[in-house]
Amino acid sequence: MEMNSERESVDVLILGAGLTGLAVAERLMGKGLKVAVLEKEAYVGGLARSLDWRGFKADIGGHRLYFENRDLFAEIVALIGEDRLIKHARKSSAYRDGKFLKYPPQLRNSMASAVLLSKTLWDAAGLCGRKTLNPLSLKDWVLNNFGPTIHDAYFKQYTRKVWGLETDEMSAIWAQRRIGGLNAFQLIRELAVGARSKEAVSEFYYPRGGMGDLSVRLHDRIRTEVRVIREAELLSLGGDRDTLSLARFRSPSGEECLKFGKLVSTIPITALARALSSWRMEFKSLSEGVKYRDLLIAYVAVSRRPVFEEHWVYFPEERISFSRVCEFDNWCDGMAGGDGALLGCEIFCGRADRLWNSTDDEIAALAARSLQGLGFVTAEEIQAVRVLRVPYAYPLLYLGYEKALNPLLRACESVPNLRLAGRTGTHSYFDMEECLEDAKRVYRCLT
Ligand SMILES: Cc1cc2nc3c(=O)[nH]c(=O)nc-3n(C[C@H](O)[C@H](O)[C@H](O)COP(=O)(O)OP(=O)(O)OC[C@H]3O[C@@H](n4cnc5c(N)ncnc54)[C@H](O)[C@@H]3O)c2cc1C
Repeated sequence: MEMNSERESVDVLILGAGLTGLAVAERLMGKGLKVAVLEKEAYVGGLARSLDWRGFKADIGGHRLYFENRDLFAEIVALIGEDRLIKHARKSSAYRDGKFLKYPPQLRNSMASAVLLSKTLWDAAGLCGRKTLNPLSLKDWVLNNFGPTIHDAYFKQYTRKVWGLETDEMSAIWAQRRIGGLNAFQLIRELAVGARSKEAVSEFYYPRGGMGDLSVRLHDRIRTEVRVIREAELLSLGGDRDTLSLARFRSPSGEECLKFGKLVSTIPITALARALSSWRMEFKSLSEGVKYRDLLIAYVAVSRRPVFEEHWVYFPEERISFSRVCEFDNWCDGMAGGDGALLGCEIFCGRADRLWNSTDDEIAALAARSLQGLGFVTAEEIQAVRVLRVPYAYPLLYLGYEKALNPLLRACESVPNLRLAGRTGTHSYFDMEECLEDAKRVYRCLT
């Protein structure tokens, strides 16, 4: 490989041009700092990008905007434009035993939901005084907070399918982050009077043209001042005994080096550790046991719309290949081009799994078979299928994951000019709002 000997120097180097990396770069603009971003892919946006395909537009799984931080939301509205944001009343279901059950369950709308919730109330009454004191696993947490009915209906199979683990092998932290401190009584109250928790929120916003619009606009805003180097994969990091100062990366023009004063990493923490191991050997073993869950998406173009009434539908049953299907034309009219529908069928797996290593045709056929087998579409209605592999889609918060992660986080924190940021970079279950808040936090540390 050709080595570019010219060593450009920047004040701040950001690894990764996903939402967090772009947001950090945007905050640093106008501060008199020379900033560069290294991005492995040819596109920006990471998990929050949209792809164009045959006149269709689709996200990496449905991405809804819902912000609790009003100031941050105002910034996003200003960035995207109020007229380009669609406000949706959430429509989502869980499909089980051949029936669509409103999700989150609603007391008023369905008999099945009402039965489920009355059983939950019964469980909750029986729970008083019978709780695990310090629930560490997802199973104990769900049993403590909601009881066995909700555990068996919503968590048991779905956890196995999405995470490849039983509920007693998953950390309670996942549920604490996602569902918060909600218990059965509060859940029922929320469902009767309208949801307030973030996970169950009943309204959300969506940018016309796909969620990727957010990243594209951030990129447009920074591109005059910040050098975003795409198709540039980080290879190694180096420096003196205590501080980092040099990044070596591979780009289409060969291997290059960039000097920097401060480094912000939003790339998978395991990839960062690999790059750091040439500087300090200890990083090599520190990333062992830090795991991500990967995602396959089969985008299915269908000649008829709508296929589903919902924005997205959960499929907890293991006999069905996908765990969730988003119908993008229900998110925004133009997403599916003409009169057809575009379905994003999400299949969760690990990179070592046979499924991940199957061919695109095999994965496409699997998703198409499930859709046809359930009677949602016919073979004639399927126009095309495109398969996308999304590595590092979710941090895998298995029971005890902190034992592997914390020493690595501490080692990173001990490097004075390195900051970790965002969902993938900190290995946290962050949504977009939390990523943008984290970008703000890191910006404050840098200036
Ligand atoms: C299926 C799915 C649905 C979601 N739905 C929602 C939702 O409805 N609402 C919500 O708020 N959030 C949602 N999220 C979460 C949201 O997508 C993330 O919080 C956010 O996009 C993470 O941004 P990030 O920049 O921290 O990480 P990433 O998007 O992972 O960015 C990391 C970047 O680093 C790059 N990179 C990786 N390795 C290297 C390397 N070696 N060298 C250089 N660059 C590298 C990657 O290509 C990527 O661009 C969802 C996520 C998924 C997976």
